[in-house]
This record gives sequence, structure tokens and C-alpha cells, in this order.
Amino acid sequence: MKKTGVKVGDITIGENNHIVVQTMCNTATQNIEASFKQCVKLAKAGAELIRLTTQGIKEVEALKVIKEKLRENGIRTPLVADVHFSAEVALAAAEVADKVRINPGNFATDHNIAFAQFSKLIEVCKKNNTALRIGINHGSLDERIIEKYGNTPNGMKESAVEWIRMAQDNDFNQLIISLKSSSTRIMVDAYRLLYKEFEKSGIAYPLHLGVTEAGNGEAGRIKSAVGIASLLSYGIGDTIRVSLTEDPLNEIPVAKFLADYFLTEAKNGGQRIAERVNNNPVIFEKSYNCKTWSEFILSASCDLGPLLLDKIIDDVELHLECDEKFENGDISRFRDELLQASRRKFSKPEYIACPGCGRTLFNLESVFNEVKRRTSHLVGYNIAVMGCIVNGPGEMADADYGYVGEGRNRVSIYRGKTPVYRAVPENEAIDKLLELIEQDIRNKIFTI
Ligand code: SF4
Repeated sequence: MKKTGVKVGDITIGENNHIVVQTMCNTATQNIEASFKQCVKLAKAGAELIRLTTQGIKEVEALKVIKEKLRENGIRTPLVADVHFSAEVALAAAEVADKVRINPGNFATDHNIAFAQFSKLIEVCKKNNTALRIGINHGSLDERIIEKYGNTPNGMKESAVEWIRMAQDNDFNQLIISLKSSSTRIMVDAYRLLYKEFEKSGIAYPLHLGVTEAGNGEAGRIKSAVGIASLLSYGIGDTIRVSLTEDPLNEIPVAKFLADYFLTEAKNGGQRIAERVNNNPVIFEKSYNCKTWSEFILSASCDLGPLLLDKIIDDVELHLECDEKFENGDISRFRDELLQASRRKFSKPEYIACPGCGRTLFNLESVFNEVKRRTSHLVGYNIAVMGCIVNGPGEMADADYGYVGEGRNRVSIYRGKTPVYRAVPENEAIDKLLELIEQDIRNKIFTI
């Protein structure tokens, strides 16, 4: 199989290059000084690619200035414009950014129009040596694809194949593909299906891996590690982003750990796994000797998450020697998180939270922590906290309930895809979310 290399600024993604670590600013792109400063910090921390939200022409202009300022300061990190909904903005961004990310699900509602616009975009990319990411998200698949293939990993793969063919028809191969979902199972299946398609066709485009809306803290890290490791351990993936609902600076060490982990050792190969007998559960016992707790949770998620996700094992028994102090209960708490991230046992609500970006107008991380605190009893529910109303509702595909930022100090509360309360003042919004869920439980409208 021929692996395509894609030039993004000074770096090449794919072919046989190392796994590129990337992240995204959460500043408003129009705030040039804040975005510039954040890019500098991220680049110094090891981000090899930085994405900025580019929702309009003003953001494209700001991106141009940010890029110039970075270059003047000797920072060559390629910049990616994140574009949704507007082909015009994508066209303008392709003249400025090193790479443009588009979401085919919301590129244009009419498929023929979308294809015509895509051809134009490719011409601009060719002229400016701009790479293109086709960023397919489970939560925002094109309706036409959903009708034909369902809202499934196969639908995501088919959507990617359609856009890849379109690029090939236009003689363009500077393409990177992502197929993200907040469910590790769905994203892993989608990437594996696409990779099989690459094997059949003999051409592999670079794959950008990530578990979208993974949340924060240990849960977000474990979920990201399980999803990404389940692909990297099979040699699938060329660039990764660990999306955390935190300062994007915190994403870099986690992403670097994952990229390095699969560089140094063939991780899963050496592990002896007992064969399943008479359908009895396979419990895998493993000992770790780690310097830090964080090294332990990431190593164990990389080793064991893929085995749990693929149902090769059913549970784990872990032993740890660690230079950092930890409590006995910490290991069993980690085991619960790992089983939940691998979608084998749900012991708390499933949280979906976007990382936030320039569209977020509230303190996403503290709101998310508060939502988690107040809904921790709702085991079995999927609860989303999303930074903006533009992409949030579309992206929270599996959520039963959602808290979605709707402009400054206003929030919408969703049941599934339906907004039930609009423009709720921010200080009342978590109460409203709880009120809706409790009312639904009482009325048996939505029970687990
Ligand atoms: Fe940004 Fe979150 Fe909106 Fe996505 S859903 S565009 S990350 S604020």
C-alpha cells in the first residue's frame, strides 16, 4: 500500500514520518494578541500543528496576522484553519493557512453545490500549497449519508470515501482524513473500516486520530488513550489530537506520551492472554512500575484499553509500584474509568464535553465540572456540555441531555437533539438541566 505524505507548512504528515502531535487554540481568533501568545506557548510545549477556529472572514484576516507574527518571531509551526458551514470562508482560509479543516457534513446542504464548491477549494489549495483535512464527525454526518448508510461507522467511512474520490477526480492528494466520535467504539470502527478501504485501493491518506468531546481530567485522558491506542497499536494513524476540556497546553504531554508509546515498543504483542474457556470472563492481570500516576494511567490505558474494547479480555486486575503516592482506591477508580472508556461497564454517567474554542463564551471547564458534580448519580445517561450553539447540538450525537452555550451568558438546554429551554441565564442553566432530567424521570419520558 502506498502511503501518501502531506506537506503542511514545513512538516510532512503520513508516509513514514513520525506521529505528529497537534492541538487547537481556545482563544477567540480575532483576539490576535491572546491567540498569538497561546500559539507561542503551545509551540514551545511541543505542538507541531496548531488549529484556530475560523468562523468568518474576519477570523481569516486575524489568522493571517497571527501567522505573520509567529513567523517574525521565528515560530514556524504550521497553522490550521478550522472552518464549518461556509465554503467562502474555506476558500479565503486556504490562501492563508497551511491547512484547512472542513466538515463535509456541514459544508453545504445541497450535495451538488457542495461538490462544486469543493472543486473550487481544491484549486485554491493547489495554488497555495495548502493541505486539506476532511474532518468527518459522527455527530454531524450529512443527512444523505445517514439515509443511505445510517449514522454508523460505515456511514462515516462512506462519507470519507466519497470526498476522497472527489479530490482524486480533481487530481489532489494533499488530504488528511479524520473520523471522530465521542464513542471510542464508533471512532475505532470507523477508522479501521476506512483503513481496510485504503488497503483495498492501495493508497493510504494520512489519518488524524482523536476521540472528540472526550471531557477532562483522568476520564478524558483515559478515553482518548483507549481510542487512539486502539488504532496506533495496529499501525493506523499519522497525527493525533487529544481533545480535553482544559487549557490546550495540557493536551500536549498526553498526545506526546501516546505518540511515543507506540514508537518505542510493540506494546500488545508480548502480553500473554488466557484463552476464553466456556464463555467465562477473561480477567487480565498486569503489574506496572511507574514514576508517576499519570504514566501509569496512560500506559495501562494504551495496553489494556484496546484489549477491552475489542472484547479480547473482559476485566483487569492491576498492581502498581509508583514513585508518586497513591491511595488503594485510586486503582479501582482507574479500573472503573478504563472499563467505561472501553465501553464495557458503565459505572457513572457518560459525559460528552467539547474542548472549547474561539466560539466558547463561558468558562467551559468550570461549568463542566459543576455539571459532573451535580449529575454524578445519573448512571447510564449521556450528558453533554458544549461550548457553542453553532456546532454543539450537531456534535453531541449520543447525548440524552445537553447544556449548550448560546451566546454570552445564555444557555440552551437540550433533550436529545431538541432544545427544550432556550436563552436560559447562565446562573440558572444547571438547575434547568437537572429540572428537565428529573421531570423526565418522573414522567417516564426518558428513563434508562
Ligand atoms: Fe468550539 Fe465546542 Fe463549538 Fe466545537 S462545539 S465549535 S469546540 S465551542
